[in-house]
Amino acid sequence: MTNSRNELFNRICKRQVRLAEHTSYGIGGAADYFVMPANVEQLLSVLDVSQSYGMERIVFGMGSNVLFPDKPKPGTLYISLKNMTDVTVNGSGWFVSSGIPLSMLSLAGLLAGSPEFQFTYLLPGCLGAGIYMNAKYYDEQIGDKIEKVYYIDLDDPTLSLQTIHAKDCLFAYKQSIFQHKPWLIVGAQFRVPEQAGELAVCLSRLLTQQKAANENGLSSLVTFYSYFSREIIKLQSRRIRIPEPMKHIEQYRTEKRHFKFPSCGSFFKNNYAAGLSIGAMVDRLGLKGLSCGGAVISPYHGNMILNVRQATASDILALKDTVSEAIELHYGFIPEPEVAIL
Ligand SMILES: Cc1cc2nc3c(=O)[nH]c(=O)nc-3n(C[C@H](O)[C@H](O)[C@H](O)COP(=O)(O)OP(=O)(O)OC[C@H]3O[C@@H](n4cnc5c(N)ncnc54)[C@H](O)[C@@H]3O)c2cc1C
Repeated sequence: MTNSRNELFNRICKRQVRLAEHTSYGIGGAADYFVMPANVEQLLSVLDVSQSYGMERIVFGMGSNVLFPDKPKPGTLYISLKNMTDVTVNGSGWFVSSGIPLSMLSLAGLLAGSPEFQFTYLLPGCLGAGIYMNAKYYDEQIGDKIEKVYYIDLDDPTLSLQTIHAKDCLFAYKQSIFQHKPWLIVGAQFRVPEQAGELAVCLSRLLTQQKAANENGLSSLVTFYSYFSREIIKLQSRRIRIPEPMKHIEQYRTEKRHFKFPSCGSFFKNNYAAGLSIGAMVDRLGLKGLSCGGAVISPYHGNMILNVRQATASDILALKDTVSEAIELHYGFIPEPEVAIL
């Protein structure tokens, strides 16, 4: 068993992989070890072998909310779950793996006639991180849509699959229990029973097409946007009506230039007690358009720090510090980054 796991690990683990290619920021040096397991069995082998070698591990999905280092720590294993895209129908519920793109859920919902996931349209990233971050759009959030989450406790030597009910996941604004535990999210069960079978079938079909169309996944925002906007046009040509909320999302995100430059979306979490969004504060402080090296604070959205010209992680962090200091000085608190600085 251990030998076959070692063989598998050696076969699928790549060396010297540029992390920049696996994040929407387009930033990050070469990782010594990099792996994208395709299913739970491969993931368990990777975890088992890397644990036995005592390797430091960093888990992520599509990389649309992480800032990778310019020089990754030697010996670290980076594990992306974006290739774990199984969907299984189980009675009236359906299990969806961590690597399913959030935006794919909105298309599957559309095909199945369910309005449940319209808010995830053009939301970059995968389901696993969507649960970890409790991804949201206006007043809808992923934590309200799931029934239970399947995870692996990395501190548990048996690495067995565990479940937790959504009500125990401590979901709140950009918060979940997973941010406070060494738990790796494997997938989730959804509560859309009446359309379960149809939705799952739609998802499987879309995923097969996506894999064929784009072997490298959807970490680049340009690829991400062109893929999903093409899919919507295809659906329209089949006389499927695009609901107004999804049209508004497209309009909002293109107006804010979300897909024009590499970024990780909003850099900081909002502090609602302050009564003003971080974007509005940055605007009032006159920081929009400020640049450092190849990075710039978006002129269109004060809470986004863009990579406009081969920025480094240090460029992004310098602008992050400038914004933090100015907000602390003028508004009396230090904003909490939403982007995971690895
Ligand atoms: C242009 C743009 C617009 C955006 N708009 C929004 C928005 O409207 N609303 C919103 O909520 N977010 C938004 N985001 C942020 C991003 O879409 C979400 O945070 C998304 O959930 C990230 O998914 P990912 O797979 O890319 O995560 P990654 O960047 O790969 O990972 C993010 C974090 O989750 C952890 N993680 C990832 N997978 C797992 C797992 N399986 N188990 C445990 N931990 C895990 C990682 O360690 C990391 O800390 C936007 C990003 C961009 C680039």
